[in-house]
Amino acid sequence: MINNKYQFFIFLYMNEQNYPEFTGLELSPRKVDYLKFIFEKRGTVKTTEISSCLQVDPSTTSKTLNELATAGYLNHVPYRGVDLTDMGKAYAEFLVRRHRILSLLFTHYGLSTEEACAEVSRFEAFVSRNSVNKICSSMGHPMVGVCGEISHEKCFPEEHHH
Ligand SMILES: [Zn+2]
Ligand SMILES: [Zn+2]
Repeated sequence: MINNKYQFFIFLYMNEQNYPEFTGLELSPRKVDYLKFIFEKRGTVKTTEISSCLQVDPSTTSKTLNELATAGYLNHVPYRGVDLTDMGKAYAEFLVRRHRILSLLFTHYGLSTEEACAEVSRFEAFVSRNSVNKICSSMGHPMVGVCGEISHEKCFPEEHHH
């Protein structure tokens, strides 16, 4: 039987290999919503579905999707919509992790699940990956948040030498 700690370190190692470098501050709150929405749909998503669910007019949606495609987060699938690139998926995993760590944190300080999710959704785009990883570490790398399972990467303070 493989113990959990060993599996956990394999998991960390794999993620370290697969995760591109980013600060977590690359996308605006609106683009964060787009990427999380497409990620949660798991596969190719129609542009019309994105614009109706996010309540954005179709031309603005197309423009934003083009910007996300140019930046490498997603691909246009002719006649079918868009899907995430590997980088887009890795980034979206971070976005979900950030939301869940921060909302779990808020429920530790008196907010209900609903209040925490709503509150965090308003500012999460401005919290860096480094801070999320430090908070995750100080919370003991929780596996379950208030709105789903929490994934982990190398959640220890990164050293930056310049
Ligand atoms: Zn939530
Ligand atoms: Zn962690």
